[in-house]
Amino acid sequence: MNTHTKTESARVAAAATTNAAIDARRVAATPRGVGIGFTVYADKARNAELWDVEGKRYIDFGSGIAVLNTGHRHPRIVEAIAKQLESFTHTAYQVVPYESVVRLAERLNAVTPGDHAKKTAFFTTGAEAVENAIKIARNATKRPGVIALSGGFHGRTYLGMALTGKVAPYKAGFGPFPASVYHVPAPMELHGVSVEQSLQAIAQLFKADIEPEQVAAIIVEPVQGEGGFYVMPTAFLRALREICDRHGIVLIADEIQTGFARTGKMFAMDHHDVVPDMITMAKSLAGGMPLSAVCGRAEIMDAPAPGGLGGTYAANPLAIASALAVLDVIEDEKLCQRAEQLGHRLSEHLNALRKKFPVISDVRGLGSMVAMEFAKPDGTPDADFPKALQKRALDAGLMLLGCGIYGNVIRFLFPLTIEDAVFDEGMAILAKAMES
Ligand code: PMP
Repeated sequence: MNTHTKTESARVAAAATTNAAIDARRVAATPRGVGIGFTVYADKARNAELWDVEGKRYIDFGSGIAVLNTGHRHPRIVEAIAKQLESFTHTAYQVVPYESVVRLAERLNAVTPGDHAKKTAFFTTGAEAVENAIKIARNATKRPGVIALSGGFHGRTYLGMALTGKVAPYKAGFGPFPASVYHVPAPMELHGVSVEQSLQAIAQLFKADIEPEQVAAIIVEPVQGEGGFYVMPTAFLRALREICDRHGIVLIADEIQTGFARTGKMFAMDHHDVVPDMITMAKSLAGGMPLSAVCGRAEIMDAPAPGGLGGTYAANPLAIASALAVLDVIEDEKLCQRAEQLGHRLSEHLNALRKKFPVISDVRGLGSMVAMEFAKPDGTPDADFPKALQKRALDAGLMLLGCGIYGNVIRFLFPLTIEDAVFDEGMAILAKAMES
């Protein structure tokens, strides 16, 4: 007989109010493959602050991995979700539709780059948005090939893994992956890859591996997120646009991490005056509710036949209500401008630290999508320093996220609604953690 009866589980849950006690249960009950960043268990959160089950307060500079550009539990977003909760929580949009989806699609069609006719389809996770963007591009072009960039991240599903350009920990031991996916190096001057070299690699790909007439799509993050906040140069994105135009390839901008005011504009592609054919969105789209979207040229989006796209939970009504409120908050609270201001203040602060601590080898970013990179005295990537820094900062009450193809980058993803005093407090904790 199973000794873990319902009563037993309830008793254990009630007793376990410390982080350590819950963590011991986590190790026993959940697989290690779902790695966790901090052994700190959330109790409640508000805007840029989070309290754990032991009552300790943290400043959250991670925003649940770029999901909370509008902060934890923004009152207007909570109100919108609560209002929807009073009406209905699920009908399956594909069975019984609701108007809010149409309204959100109209608004996203209007705020995404380009003034061509667009259509938007909704899904649940970022990886699903990426999967569907590729499905649609292949269906529209009747071609198989997809080109992605090394260092890019596009999700943990099979196609997401195939497109992701980093083996450990995302792909290691999970193969084989879907075919017809090709990688070229992302331009990264800091690590010796120029725009010309990246473009040369595409030319080489067209010679050695696949003819451009068989390529359905090129997918690119305008700022690589998990990869390390490397900003793709305008010249590179323009060249991709030109290659896609020349060969009838669909250009997909994966704005899952860069979108919704994070970079100082609604979408990162807005910085470059390059219009993608399709955009994938998720994360901050719905302020903490699971929602993703693919927005693209109307004629491409309409290629798949009815029934070819969708999902039971796609366009969940609570998430749609949340996303509509997110768009209002971004507009009314001028979060694009706020991202610019905060990003500027952060970069100044990080550059001052860099002068003092040569272990910081680079400070870069776009708007508030800013990161600092660490290197050893011989110039090789230093992954140990940022790990130790994360730990010291956490002890002092600041949550920082790492990233980077070499694991040597700290990225900043605080809510754009963060109060000045909380932001300054975070900066002070960071400076102190660097010093110790
Ligand atoms: N694309 C990008 C650019 C991402 O940053 C992520 C998530 N980190 C994904 C896709 C996958 O999103 P999800 O985890 O919601 O599937």
